[in-house]
Amino acid sequence: MPAILTQPESMDTLEKHAQRPDSPVGIQGGQHAGSSDGPVSWSVDAVAGLFELPFADLMFRAQVAHRENHDPNAVQRSTLLSIKTGGCPEDCGYCPQAARHDTGVGNEPMLSVDAVVEAARSAKANGATRFCMGAAWRSPKQRDLEPVLAMVRQVRALGLETCATLGMLKPGQAGQLREAGLDYYNHNLDTAPEFYGDIVSTRTQDDRLDTLAQVRSAGMNVCCGGIVGMGETRRQRAGLIATLANLDPYPESVPINHLVRVPGTPLENEDALDPLEFVRTVAVARITMPRAMVRLSAGREEMSEAVQALCFLAGANSVFYGDRLLTTGNPDVERDHALFDRLGIHGLEPARSAAEADAVPAQAT
Ligand code: SF4
Repeated sequence: MPAILTQPESMDTLEKHAQRPDSPVGIQGGQHAGSSDGPVSWSVDAVAGLFELPFADLMFRAQVAHRENHDPNAVQRSTLLSIKTGGCPEDCGYCPQAARHDTGVGNEPMLSVDAVVEAARSAKANGATRFCMGAAWRSPKQRDLEPVLAMVRQVRALGLETCATLGMLKPGQAGQLREAGLDYYNHNLDTAPEFYGDIVSTRTQDDRLDTLAQVRSAGMNVCCGGIVGMGETRRQRAGLIATLANLDPYPESVPINHLVRVPGTPLENEDALDPLEFVRTVAVARITMPRAMVRLSAGREEMSEAVQALCFLAGANSVFYGDRLLTTGNPDVERDHALFDRLGIHGLEPARSAAEADAVPAQAT
């Protein structure tokens, strides 16, 4: 795909500078496995090296990667709706929906298909191009999957891209979702492999990888990222990014979440993460997964607008947008519109990113 550059000459110069071996921004990271066109393999050391770069050099490299692959002033907007809230049997330390965490989140029934489709219609009217449906399940039962399939069909018929996050999938379920028209399945790796057991004990990261493999086999796009600020070390953040970047192919969507320290969860008293470390994580994700949509996800509400702007500069080009059944006058949406206006950012139309366009099977287009 040709680079999307608004100032080709100056960017050529920048890119040449970035390639110079003596340039601090030219530090080599990933190694091509096999031919120069093959997948790039990232060692944890190489990713950790990116985290260690001076901030300006890291941002520069991220900008080069971003501008080579994306419109630098476009941000894709996804709306997330919880279609089944609370009562989850899993024990993810960050999550207020785990039944065992005393967070005040109740075990609610699944929303009706009509309610979900109405929410999707409102989200579209407010400018969202993708609609993500989340359910607090360890794994969907077949009787629960049936209404979800109806939701996927009807949301897609509105002209929205569809995404779902339903927990671990059993054999055959990914295919059913794909048949219904699901474009993306979200399943995060959460954190580095060696830190995973400190955060979740009711499943392993290998279980997550199994579901991701089923999603790929069914021909769906993968949305997969992690959470930072859970007490992991910088090297463990590098380990998370290396694991994501070494998926073959790497995910089309990479949500980078900032821990929200919800009272009643085991991580409620976790030390706050340096905001610039969060920006660094976004930049490293952009460099190592240059064609992915890197999404600012959980925690954005608590971020200053200046930090959000730095994240966009670091290569974030997708956000979660609105957080409930949207109607006109939703203040969160209005605040986002104002911020995007101040930054000169425009919304990305449903036309998919380069990686996404390549990956979407014919049935989904
Ligand atoms: S599986 Fe999902 S809903 Fe359940 S506790 Fe973990 S993050 Fe929360």
